Amino acid sequence: MYDIIIIGAGAAGLAAAVEAIFIKPDIRILILEKNSKSGRKLSASGNGKCNLTNSYFASDCYLSNNTLFVENFIDNNSPSEVVSFFEKCGIMVYEKGGYYYPLSDMAKQVTSKLLKICSINGVTIEYDKCATDIKAVDGGNKYIVKSDDTQYESRIVIIAAGSSSYPGLGGSDSGYDLIKRMNIDMTPVYPVLIPIYVDDDKLSIAQGVRISADITIDTGEDVICERGQIQINKDNLSGIAIMNISCYLPAMKRGIYKDCISVDYCPYMSWDELKEYIIKQCDNIINDNVISALEGVFPNKFARYLLTKLNINPNTDTKKITEKQINRLTSNIKRMRYTPIEKFDNDKSQASLGGVDLNEIAMNTYESKKYKGLYIVGEMLDITGKCGGYNLTFAFISGINAACDSVKHL
Ligand SMILES: Cc1cc2nc3c(=O)[nH]c(=O)nc-3n(C[C@H](O)[C@H](O)[C@H](O)COP(=O)(O)OP(=O)(O)OC[C@H]3O[C@@H](n4cnc5c(N)ncnc54)[C@H](O)[C@@H]3O)c2cc1C
Repeated sequence: MYDIIIIGAGAAGLAAAVEAIFIKPDIRILILEKNSKSGRKLSASGNGKCNLTNSYFASDCYLSNNTLFVENFIDNNSPSEVVSFFEKCGIMVYEKGGYYYPLSDMAKQVTSKLLKICSINGVTIEYDKCATDIKAVDGGNKYIVKSDDTQYESRIVIIAAGSSSYPGLGGSDSGYDLIKRMNIDMTPVYPVLIPIYVDDDKLSIAQGVRISADITIDTGEDVICERGQIQINKDNLSGIAIMNISCYLPAMKRGIYKDCISVDYCPYMSWDELKEYIIKQCDNIINDNVISALEGVFPNKFARYLLTKLNINPNTDTKKITEKQINRLTSNIKRMRYTPIEKFDNDKSQASLGGVDLNEIAMNTYESKKYKGLYIVGEMLDITGKCGGYNLTFAFISGINAACDSVKHL
């Protein structure tokens, strides 16, 4: 019989195990991990550098169907908890532009340190063991967790099974299946933090271009704007700001997709300033054709894309360009509209929107309201962070808080 069984050796599960050890070093913990490796997403996070948390911490960093839960999470927690947890783990962090990383700049080393703490302190990790069933027995004083043909007993269960996003790094529905079997409510789940595929057959002309922009989505109910660098790909737009905007697509009604995204490709100039700039460049003897007039501000490939999209020959003599064409150019640079193609790409999704209904969970402790001694933490809950370390922050803090509360039952 174990004190705690943790399902999933990802960011939340490992943080829960380590925090429980800090509080009660002689605790008996079993972690069941369905993959042959632990912490695969944690090890891949932040382009391998692990963006652990962020100094900006506010409710607009998270999306959920339960805004009260999010506000309570923000009011009662802070990024400094993540920093001090890692300091306790012997991992020092540094901050750059608000983003926190381990000093080693190595996500894999963060995972291996957490695993090392577990192994030194007697935590058992069973790999290739997928938890398939959880039963509360003895009035909720004991749990039986089944995996294939084996069954395990414990006083406490912490489910930290993650989401279905990024199956290449082990994402699956397996945690949700456990939840549904226990009659715990879920909200619909969608892959988010993904590139946005758009209906634009000229986009490939600008493939590979990175450009700073303001991206706006009109959801029909809200207008949300994000500033950042866009990466233009063959058939999609990507980059942090686009990935954040992708969080608003699932909630939209099908009919209003048309032109719902607009991009200002020149946010540092007003419409008038940009028009004046283009006119000046066309009048200047240094430019012979319209594409060279745009090259002072935009990458050549992007200028070519823009002109082709507007049916303006890039080689048009600067003297022959009409005011009407300059107005169209200016308007499209300042407000290029795109219709997203409804392609929710789970393969590249860095997180899931939706999950375990937060009404099922006690705020701050993450204990199930239906099952005493059962905790649910991390990405499988209906709380999704934007890019910038917010998903790991939630995974760590929820794991840590569940561990703190659960040891009180022992
Ligand atoms: C490519 C990529 C980059 C990212 N970069 C960042 C970043 O820089 N900053 C940030 O904040 N977030 C980032 N994220 C998101 C972040 O990694 C996740 O939100 C976080 O890892 C979620 O932690 P978790 O413990 O809840 O789930 P996971 O890390 O997914 O862990 C869940 C674990 O449970 C196991 N499991 C599932 N079902 C079962 C079962 N039935 N039985 C046993 N085991 C089970 C899984 O195999 C997995 O190991 C990134 C995600 C991806 C995919």
